[in-house]
Amino acid sequence: MNKHMLQKGLVQVYTGNGKGKTTAALGLALRAVGRGLRVCMIQFVKGSEPCGEHLAAKMLAPYLTIIQTGHKGWLGREKPGPEVTACARRAFEMAHRAVTGEEYDLVILDEINIAVFYELVSVKELLQLIQEKDEHVELVLTGRKAAPEVMETADLVTEMREVKHYFKAGVPARIGIEK
Ligand code: ATP
Ligand code: MG
Repeated sequence: MNKHMLQKGLVQVYTGNGKGKTTAALGLALRAVGRGLRVCMIQFVKGSEPCGEHLAAKMLAPYLTIIQTGHKGWLGREKPGPEVTACARRAFEMAHRAVTGEEYDLVILDEINIAVFYELVSVKELLQLIQEKDEHVELVLTGRKAAPEVMETADLVTEMREVKHYFKAGVPARIGIEK
């Protein structure tokens, strides 16, 4: 395996209220793994419930690593308590190591935008992480409410816009589709 699979890693942001941000990041992860890139997704906010992607990551190890760091029960919809902040701080340190180390070609910080929105991580810290990342690492930042400064710095910003969502018609999260 080449030491660096990417000559120049860019910064991508998937934001907006529509469904598809985490799914898009996982789609990219699948493509990357297919080409032998080593991928790490660090999930901020999300609790300890395993989703389909965590089971898939076991099948795709060692190329795909997914780490859930969120505090159980906090889904990013209300003001976080101190234990949520502590989880986010640990996750951010992990993220810093992942983007500056030699281990990964693609690093996805899932729901980092929500962590910044709730000030668990400051915009300044995230901008610094972007600046300090290894030049060979592709970095993907997902979650609603991306900070304007982060979108400004990124090389790509995609906004998922909700046109229609079956959730509003009463369809709950389904195994294999949402979880
Ligand atoms: P997904 O993980 O399905 O790609 P997402 O990452 O774009 O969704 P999140 O903001 O992480 O969306 O939302 C968390 C959960 O809410 C997911 O189960 C997602 O499918 C669901 N969801 C996303 N957008 C909407 C919406 N507009 N209305 C209701 N539920 C949504
Ligand atoms: Mg998501």
